[in-house]
Amino acid sequence: MTTRFWHDVWIGNEPLASRFNRLYLDARPNCMVADRIIDSSFSWEWLRNPPVSCRLQHLTLELALVTLRDEDDIWRWNIEPEGVFTVRGTKTFLDDYYLPSTHTKTRWSNHVPGKANVFVWRLLLDRLPNRLNLSFHGLPIDTIFCPSCSIGGESRDHVFLFCNVAREIWHGISIWSDIRWQPFDSVNDIFVWLDSKPGSITKKSRMFCIVVSTLWWIWRLLSDTLFGSNTIKRCSILDYIRFSSYSWLKARSKFAPSWNTWITHPL
Ligand SMILES: [Zn+2]
Repeated sequence: MTTRFWHDVWIGNEPLASRFNRLYLDARPNCMVADRIIDSSFSWEWLRNPPVSCRLQHLTLELALVTLRDEDDIWRWNIEPEGVFTVRGTKTFLDDYYLPSTHTKTRWSNHVPGKANVFVWRLLLDRLPNRLNLSFHGLPIDTIFCPSCSIGGESRDHVFLFCNVAREIWHGISIWSDIRWQPFDSVNDIFVWLDSKPGSITKKSRMFCIVVSTLWWIWRLLSDTLFGSNTIKRCSILDYIRFSSYSWLKARSKFAPSWNTWITHPL
């Protein structure tokens, strides 16, 4: 009950006043979190006209993920699962954060073109210009919602995993490749899963091309939807994926089967 809405760090790693400074200027600066809750949901009270902006949408989305209980506020050490500070746990956290990681974010495959490698590199670093990233960098955009479904915020993992469009495409890929794609939490998990999956180099190379091609065409389809050019037919997206992955593999490796085999049993 004593946590200040804008000035204390109670959601994320910074006070909301600094992360959402434009909204803060129009808000009651010293209100408590408890002041903002009416009937179990957040309500607003602005000093000036309520700002209608993607920043407000952004904040609303973050708050929707918070569950508050009707009890006294406590400090919690989020690094530890039990929420209690220990020197050992903190040292491990700092080592993991600062020491060089062997996680392969700069993977480069000879089986896909350079542009696809660069795309994967930016994807794994979450540096693609989706609406959420543009909003984080302060670019004035009308909305942060996904242009394909208008339901979720256009984040990397929404676009490539959770959006209905992406789910439909992965489902089609699953049927074609006869591989049960796991429900991943993050795009990075796809590549961790690919690396850990046993199999011949031929099979792994083919799977990699299919994954990269799928991600590539999901992004191209989104861009096409966003800019209204309509040059990519959604109903043909699986054909684009089959063809481009095959072309990449055929041109750059000895792992491509015949085209007829590829379109029926690629793995
Ligand atoms: Zn969507």
